[in-house]
Amino acid sequence: MTQEKLAVLGGEPVIPADRIPAETYDKLFRKMVLTEEAKAAAMDVIEKGSFSFTDVTEKFQQEFAAWQGTKYAIAYCNGTMALTSAMFAIGLGEGDEIICPTKTYWGSVSQAINFGASAVFCNINDMLSMDPGDIERCITPRTKAIMVVHYFAYPADMDPIMEIAHKYGLKVIEDVSHAQGGLYKGKKLGTFGDVAAMSLMSTKSLACGELGVLVTDDRRIYERAMAFGHYERNNANYIKECDDLKDYFHIALGGAKGRANQVCTAIARDQLKHYDERSRHVREAMNYFWDQLEGLPGIRAIRVDESTGSNMAGWYEPHGAYYPDELHGLSVKRFAEAVRAENGGFCYEGGNFCLHTHPFFKKFDLTHRGKPSRIAFNDRDVREDDHLCDPSLTKYCFSAPRFNYLDREIIDLYAAGYRKVIENHMQLLESDAKEAQGGRWYGSENQ
Ligand SMILES: *Cc1c(COP(=O)(O)O)cnc(C)c1O
Repeated sequence: MTQEKLAVLGGEPVIPADRIPAETYDKLFRKMVLTEEAKAAAMDVIEKGSFSFTDVTEKFQQEFAAWQGTKYAIAYCNGTMALTSAMFAIGLGEGDEIICPTKTYWGSVSQAINFGASAVFCNINDMLSMDPGDIERCITPRTKAIMVVHYFAYPADMDPIMEIAHKYGLKVIEDVSHAQGGLYKGKKLGTFGDVAAMSLMSTKSLACGELGVLVTDDRRIYERAMAFGHYERNNANYIKECDDLKDYFHIALGGAKGRANQVCTAIARDQLKHYDERSRHVREAMNYFWDQLEGLPGIRAIRVDESTGSNMAGWYEPHGAYYPDELHGLSVKRFAEAVRAENGGFCYEGGNFCLHTHPFFKKFDLTHRGKPSRIAFNDRDVREDDHLCDPSLTKYCFSAPRFNYLDREIIDLYAAGYRKVIENHMQLLESDAKEAQGGRWYGSENQ
């Protein structure tokens, strides 16, 4: 073991600011990579002024459904709106409960309040994914649905989740925003539940600008989702089986418009063509990165065993598990600070903060009812069980860079940054406040 002064304490960083040429850096890390064809397709929409039409979007939807392996796909202005439509499509309503893992982005489940429904939070497992063993605890006669999130591209354990859903007659929505095209035991994520929805915004693995998609095999769900957000297609050409919707043509039933900007669907058509191949390159690079760190104390890769037929698609936000006991109790917060100082800023602790800790889910009153909206129409206070989601479990993870392709020399450098901090972690013990913060609210200053 070499003793080297850590950069966070004033030593030389492993990767000084000018070490990687700007062009290489951009190629290696940029999420939204556009071909000339994608730019030309976007320009065509701009020149025609056809932002608000649906001709390009209809083509994208057909191609996306074929790629996804579902009968239907509907594009939306963003993923949040696609997920909101999915909630309407399955019939979520007043007094219903919807179970969601507490560690995810707010766009997975905050919309439940728009339907008078209650979000009920369950715990996550070692793969940072919904813990199937914690779902039955959350089920009551009011439970309507499970929101499965394939968090950070780790495929949720769908066999036990679907078994529980069938046993209790629950609807399943999949939020595939982190895992487009990923596989669980050989089957594509987004094809297990009644409906799936996902974001394709510009920092997701499948990056298309500002865009969302909903996919389903169920005609009624498709029609309800269409009527909810797409006034221009809420008509007899699309709404054929849902007789109860036929009085309401030409208006968006959600009271909010979900139409996709065709600049984004034009870009998306091209992105989709390259996505599977690009994802293969990311997985090759990420597996190589984690292989370099195998055997070090304190950290373990969190990755799926691809020989099971599962995979992590475009490996949205690589994370590792952290074991402070193997590093003399060094907090993951201080560990991450030290790695950032070595590698220019790629290591953060904890992922998203647990949703149940946000005041929005504790007390926000959307409609001035004098009661938190989360429980406004429920005869039980679902907040009382929030403490059963053990946040301590979620403190012990950290993020790693995501490489677009395998460049052994540069990836070795990033791995060396992590290795240096581990090999010299004793230097940090004195300056360690020993408090992990457990994550962050994305979009806040402490990104
Ligand atoms: C990004 C994201 C969303 C929301 O998508 P937008 O396109 O940003 O509206 C929903 N769920 C998860 C898990 C996300 O990461």
